[in-house]
Amino acid sequence: KKEQLQLLASVEAVTKDGVQINLSSNISSVKEMDMALKYGAVGVGLFRTEFLYMDRVTFPSENEQFEVYRHVAEKMGSGSVVIRTLDIGGDKHLDYFSLPEEDNPFLGYRAIRISLDRKELFKTQLSAILRASHYGHVKIMYPMISSVEEVRGANELLREAMTELDERGIPYNRDIQVGIMIEVPAAVAIADLLAAESDFFSIGTNDLVQYVLAVDRMNEQIAHMYHPYHPAILRMLRSTVEAARQAGIPVSVCGEMAGDERSIPLWIELGVHELSMSPQSLLKIKHRLLNTSAEEVKLVAKECLKMYTNTEIEKLLNDYHDSHR
Ligand code: PEP
Ligand code: MG
Repeated sequence: KKEQLQLLASVEAVTKDGVQINLSSNISSVKEMDMALKYGAVGVGLFRTEFLYMDRVTFPSENEQFEVYRHVAEKMGSGSVVIRTLDIGGDKHLDYFSLPEEDNPFLGYRAIRISLDRKELFKTQLSAILRASHYGHVKIMYPMISSVEEVRGANELLREAMTELDERGIPYNRDIQVGIMIEVPAAVAIADLLAAESDFFSIGTNDLVQYVLAVDRMNEQIAHMYHPYHPAILRMLRSTVEAARQAGIPVSVCGEMAGDERSIPLWIELGVHELSMSPQSLLKIKHRLLNTSAEEVKLVAKECLKMYTNTEIEKLLNDYHDSHR
């Protein structure tokens, strides 16, 4: 079975009736990059850069980061590599960077909020990413965006980083695409406004589910309430995709939901054409797509979008999945 799946690595991911979906990989280490390639990822849809900052005693230098980003960009060749800027805070901590004790770390000092506060830290990373953009198809992505001001503030620092590289005579892609994670409910509500300031969206369902349902993604005690197939989530997905479509920008999904076979009908009905997932999920999802009728699953998803409860939706998606193995 495993060997058979591996044969699919170089096959295009397309449904029986011709709907194509790009399957990219999430990576959080250079080792995972090798797996992404082995399992046929067409790009890196989410490069979690936190690992570069972890298990060490100081922040990584621009050069250190640049070497890693360039390595990944070169390995991916013409495929795109979406590098997400630092997303610490919440559940992720650094020994040498003491963050304040917080009652609600997931609602606290994290991700883009830290980057906009610690500007030099952020600009060092942006410079490293920009430099790597000269060696491959690199894109930048900001995490935890909840307002237009944050996007503008981050882009302002990006422009400063560009000017400084110009002064140093270092090449980079001036037209680098800059996108944002949609993972905070406010971002969904203003997706049309954010789309006007972004080149692409990537929906982070892990955080989106936690924030929409007010269910801490790390809390075991309420894990049974963490429902990606809650009607509220489906509506959020639908309105985000709709806003992106209206604005003419691409939208992908990079949370755990993207690697869940049961959600395929939803992506096809909503019109999501790029999924980014852990490398281990790529072939499983591709195999499933190759055996999917888009026309048929659209009907299933339409039913889901009309349902009242997570239980009903999950049951329908489970039953459909089980009866089509
Ligand atoms: C997400 O929130 O869905 C996501 C992809 O990012 P992370 O899991 O790193 O928070
Ligand atoms: Mg997230």
